Amino acid sequence: MTFTREQLTEQIIQAGQFLYARGWSPATSSNYSARLSTNQVLLTVSGKHKGQLSEDDILATDLQAKSLEPHKKPSAEALLHTQLYNWQSSIQAVLHTHSVNATVLSRIEQAAQIEFTDYELQKAFNGIESHEQPLLVPIFDNDQDMSRLAVQVQQWLDSHPDCPGYLIRGHGLYTWGVSMQDALRHIEAFEFLLECELKVRACKTL
Ligand SMILES: [Zn+2]
Repeated sequence: MTFTREQLTEQIIQAGQFLYARGWSPATSSNYSARLSTNQVLLTVSGKHKGQLSEDDILATDLQAKSLEPHKKPSAEALLHTQLYNWQSSIQAVLHTHSVNATVLSRIEQAAQIEFTDYELQKAFNGIESHEQPLLVPIFDNDQDMSRLAVQVQQWLDSHPDCPGYLIRGHGLYTWGVSMQDALRHIEAFEFLLECELKVRACKTL
């Protein structure tokens, strides 16, 4: 299904309202995008309140993350979005959030990945049909150099074609989908799993 720019803009604005209301995109953090065409995406501009986005807060970029609207500046992390659209042509939406759960769990987990097992909600991800099928989520160390971070991410994606999302340590979550609805389901499922995992770990230390 193809959507017009107006429809995709509305999807991004509504996603922002939902994600801000859940507390997953505080203090102008986070960024969201949707594929506009084979080689263009719509992306949130830098530094806007994500619960109050308007049409003017969204710009088109090419797949190298270059703004196609010179008066608008894309988010610093635009490259991490376009990387995903380049990686798989089926990806139609990418959501990046800065939740407390993603931030805390990625800080206390020392390993370079978290494996979720025995959670029924793992089945929210395409291709996972049982709680016994593990969901592997990589954690990349935070880096202000997006090109360098993108290289790390690409290495993982190349060897994990079914990867539905990743964490950046002390920073947040990236996930995506074949539609905005799909990407939003992934965010909710990830947030549920991250919160459960934190609670399980907290109980174990009691
Ligand atoms: Zn971020």
